[in-house]
Amino acid sequence: MSAAGEARRAELADNLARVRAAIGAGCAEAGRDPGEVTLVAVTKTYPASDVCHLVALGVTDVGENRDQEAAPKAAEAAAAGAAPRWHFVGQLQRNKCASVVGYADAVHSVDSVRLAEALGRAAGQRRDADLDVFVQISLDGDPTRGGAVAPPAYVPGGPVPEPDHDLERVAAAVAAGPRLRLRGVMAVAPLGWQPARAFTLLADIAARLRVGYPTATAISAGMSGDLRDALAHGATHVRIGGALLGNRPPLR
Ligand SMILES: *Cc1c(COP(=O)(O)O)cnc(C)c1O
Repeated sequence: MSAAGEARRAELADNLARVRAAIGAGCAEAGRDPGEVTLVAVTKTYPASDVCHLVALGVTDVGENRDQEAAPKAAEAAAAGAAPRWHFVGQLQRNKCASVVGYADAVHSVDSVRLAEALGRAAGQRRDADLDVFVQISLDGDPTRGGAVAPPAYVPGGPVPEPDHDLERVAAAVAAGPRLRLRGVMAVAPLGWQPARAFTLLADIAARLRVGYPTATAISAGMSGDLRDALAHGATHVRIGGALLGNRPPLR
């Protein structure tokens, strides 16, 4: 490895140790087993060589938010011998489904019936193994920034979702999709909300969804800035970018 490669690997090793320690501390505070939390290293804007370093350091799951960037990066990493599980975490256009099902193991951002159907069609045509699907939830009920909306049966007094973004309908479409497995829910804390409020609501919605869909046990929540709160409220998948790959303020 080049000297620059060695230095980058050492930097990532340091960051990874800090992130793992923060996950350990958050789990300890919440009385949880860190073994039930998957670290998804969000490598968007960082090169395939960083994916290779992270995999060499023991990272098993990597996240990306744009297909145009993720598809070639996954191919380049694979050619270099790094084959992590790839999680697609960004807003997904229906015309990208065919590409994404080619390399992703999980999609965290399914938020409409039409997208679930398109993803199911693509997965049915192109995959032998199930694709894990998280339904992305809009916790403030505004789907314009992405997200399905939980109906009032889930959130008493909450907004009535339009049909295409109704969580119940989206979940049913995923469950019916060939080669799709409804794995759980995902959310980003809305701007201006306390993370604890956001992740409490997400945990309530996840529990309600699990009544009808017992496989939907996962909660994808928590980024570099709100990891602790997410772990306190049951996150099973934390999506960490900046704290792992870049220069970021300390984790909280
Ligand atoms: C970028 C991104 C992350 C990681 O965010 P950081 O603040 O860099 O840790 C997590 N989730 C999604 C959907 C993202 O786009």
